[in-house]
Amino acid sequence: MSMPGDTERLTESMERLREHYGVPEPQDRPDPILSLIKVLLSHNTNDNNRDRAYNALMERYDSPEEIMNADRDELANTISVAGLHNIKAGRIQDTLHTIVEQRGELNLDFVHDLSLSEAKDWLKQLPGVGPKSAAVVLNFTFGKSAMPVDTHVNRVSKRIGIIPESMSLDDAHDVLEGMTPEERVYEYHINLIKHGRTICKAPTPHCSDCFLNDICRYYQTHEDEADMWK
Ligand code: SF4
Repeated sequence: MSMPGDTERLTESMERLREHYGVPEPQDRPDPILSLIKVLLSHNTNDNNRDRAYNALMERYDSPEEIMNADRDELANTISVAGLHNIKAGRIQDTLHTIVEQRGELNLDFVHDLSLSEAKDWLKQLPGVGPKSAAVVLNFTFGKSAMPVDTHVNRVSKRIGIIPESMSLDDAHDVLEGMTPEERVYEYHINLIKHGRTICKAPTPHCSDCFLNDICRYYQTHEDEADMWK
């Protein structure tokens, strides 16, 4: 059997992931400013600690304006459970101030009217906002077809052979996003994460149980070790 090329692997894996995990329900669209704050809290921590820090922030402050103008040490203490709290407090306040300086108000609604690439460029010039953070906000909040490439999406897509192992995270965002049909970017993102959490785990993938192993480059090159993965 000739092996599928990158696009073929993407299409085939997307269909099988849908068959296995289904089509995820669309999420409620959070407020853009609050979504941005949450994403800045999420760096280098797990979802649980990010959520605890975010909830502490919501309890302590009544509005994004209050967060922007808060005493920085107090803000850092409030979000300390997220780790790197001094850096994150600075990034959050600097980002909020940058939005006000550039837009005249603490409001991101204008992003709705930008093209995907304009919106990405605008968000990525904010302090601490890289390609993944920008894509999370654009996809989950604005419903744009941006592909956030987190650790699971990056690992699983490289193992399958959709993108090369050596591809940078920045390029992975643009390439995976460009290859995936716009209307299925959210679904594919969510399903790759589900697969990465349950079967294609780091550091040891459960290849013998995987419904993608016949199209997976990693499996084909490590098949001799298959018994180790049972
Ligand atoms: S065959 Fe193994 S490496 Fe490939 S996607 Fe499945 S679990 Fe991951």
